[in-house]
Amino acid sequence: MNKTNPPSSNFEIQRILTGLSDISFNEHTILVTGGSGFLGSWMCEVLLQKGAEVICLDNYASGRPDNTDHLKNHPKFTRIVHDISKPYDPGRKVDLVCHLASRASPLEFDHYPIQILKSNTLGTMNALGIARKYEAMLLFTSTSEIYGEAAIFPTPETYRGNVNTLGIRGCYDEAKRAGEAFCMAYHRQHGLDVRIARIFNTYGPRMRSDGHYGRVIPRFIDQAVHDAPITIFGDGKQTRSFCYVTDQITGLLRLAGVPGLAGEAVNIGNPVEWTILDLAKLIIELTGSDSELSYLPMPPDDPTRRMPDIIKAKEKLGWEPEIKLRDGLKRMMNEEI
Ligand code: UDP
Repeated sequence: MNKTNPPSSNFEIQRILTGLSDISFNEHTILVTGGSGFLGSWMCEVLLQKGAEVICLDNYASGRPDNTDHLKNHPKFTRIVHDISKPYDPGRKVDLVCHLASRASPLEFDHYPIQILKSNTLGTMNALGIARKYEAMLLFTSTSEIYGEAAIFPTPETYRGNVNTLGIRGCYDEAKRAGEAFCMAYHRQHGLDVRIARIFNTYGPRMRSDGHYGRVIPRFIDQAVHDAPITIFGDGKQTRSFCYVTDQITGLLRLAGVPGLAGEAVNIGNPVEWTILDLAKLIIELTGSDSELSYLPMPPDDPTRRMPDIIKAKEKLGWEPEIKLRDGLKRMMNEEI
């Protein structure tokens, strides 16, 4: 699961292309920060298929060269090692900047809080500066985390959030909130066309399971296939709503590609809510694992529930998720569905 497997990505790429059939990126030059990360690499690959010229920026903090190695020789693909929290100028006209660069795993928040803050504040400011200089659109990947310990479910874009600035997640949540504010400031002051995607938990091939990078799904799969204990934090009754990567990338690129959405923030996620305990049981079933459940302390500020309201995405983007969790997990395990 940690390795890119280009031949098996046909299903994913075709699925995304189908969802973008009415959107053109042909002959666009597109800068993707975090382009060798989990989401960024899928985005680069699809944009190349759509006829775009793609500049992939990554400092490999959490992204991996492996994810884009198979694109290296594509004539329209350029890969640059750079940390977007430091200024960058592509030196040529770009039409769209997709700012995805950020560590995103809660296990990383303990170790790299300053880098996380920088990627989403200074990094967003630098990405906006590029968009302004070259009169490009900017797509900012924000997060459901800006809602913190939410009080409304499903959570709509109008909910303003309940975040602990001093807590362990503050570095990510507040940085993404500041990133959104940066986007709106450039939109209001300089008339920039900015679009803000609030991404809810997404999973799929190329997601890391190792070390601090592992989010719950790749961790549980890795534990299950090795018959190792499945590490449930707390009682496992906390919920998340899991979106398969093809649905997520389709939603993100529809947000960038549909006209008339300047200054809009849109939730992109799958509204089907799962407890972490039920997720663990499903993964044990699908892998045929002998793993047992091991209960560990709940990390501080871990949101109790998370579930997007996607009415706005349906209306404005003509988009909704299609892949069920069971099927997406099978794809992650390299099975046909
Ligand atoms: N989780 C868990 N065991 C793990 C990793 C995560 O029970 O080994 C839980 C975690 O406490 C959270 C949920 O799974 O409630 C999702 O965690 P993830 O790290 O994927 O990201 P989050 O949604 O919290 O940002």
